[in-house]
Amino acid sequence: MNEKQIYIGCHLSTTGGFAGMGKDAIKIGANTFAFFTRNPRGGGAKSIDPADVDGLRKIMEENNFGKLVAHAPYTLNPCSGTAKTREFALMAMADDLERMEYLPGNYYNIHPGSHVGQGTERGIAMICETLNQVITPEQSTTVLLETMAGKGSEVGSRFEELAEIISGVIHNEKMGVCLDTCHINDGGYDVVNSLEEILEDFDRIIGLDRLKALHINDSKNPLGARKDRHACIGEGHIGTEAIVRVITHPNLRGLPCILETPQDGLEGYADEIAMLRELAAPHIY
Ligand code: FE
Ligand code: FE
Ligand code: ZN
Repeated sequence: MNEKQIYIGCHLSTTGGFAGMGKDAIKIGANTFAFFTRNPRGGGAKSIDPADVDGLRKIMEENNFGKLVAHAPYTLNPCSGTAKTREFALMAMADDLERMEYLPGNYYNIHPGSHVGQGTERGIAMICETLNQVITPEQSTTVLLETMAGKGSEVGSRFEELAEIISGVIHNEKMGVCLDTCHINDGGYDVVNSLEEILEDFDRIIGLDRLKALHINDSKNPLGARKDRHACIGEGHIGTEAIVRVITHPNLRGLPCILETPQDGLEGYADEIAMLRELAAPHIY
């Protein structure tokens, strides 16, 4: 890892395979990226071609990529009130983690879940139960809990809740956190005015060493809205300056920064990445 490097990318389509994502990343000036491990609405996963994965590994090595941040389908809910839904989450996560070993040492980001009226404590217990069934001491992947906006009955909009989940996981050396700037804004953490306090809170409650990745999004809604509607950088309530402070913060250096902004296509992301690299450069060199 190069401390003077910003690792930035976006979600890429898996249609062209792993090597295809590597090529897309290069095309848009990215040196990390995210991808959905299966259809974001759930369902099956494509079989993996080892030659295709090798193609990506080569591109990553030659171009000094940061860690990848794979994303579980956002429909997985390990704390659903329905046994069938919980079982699907368990099956999909176990299968995803097995497949992630084709790309050793990267990240698997999950939304903790929605307790759907069962209460946060019961939700957290169910999430831990699932994680304890899928996480093995042998795996090389770190599972990241995403900070959530707190819409509906989402678990994980408070750092305390994420800390509780982590402490309930037996092999929590395999656990980390992915901080989503839109989500924490919507969850009531003032990224614009209080970044230092937020990071101090994070460190005290979870530990900054657990913070492994950033989702870089502006928000269509004001602080504390509990909505989760992403905006392009500079077009929301967080604003470009605050976003640049996040990606250049000395304590966050080297973390993969994943854009999840509502850009139309790769060109939009290429522009957004170029803009952020340019604005970040004076702060890191
Ligand atoms: Fe997410
Ligand atoms: Fe996110
Ligand atoms: Zn979101």
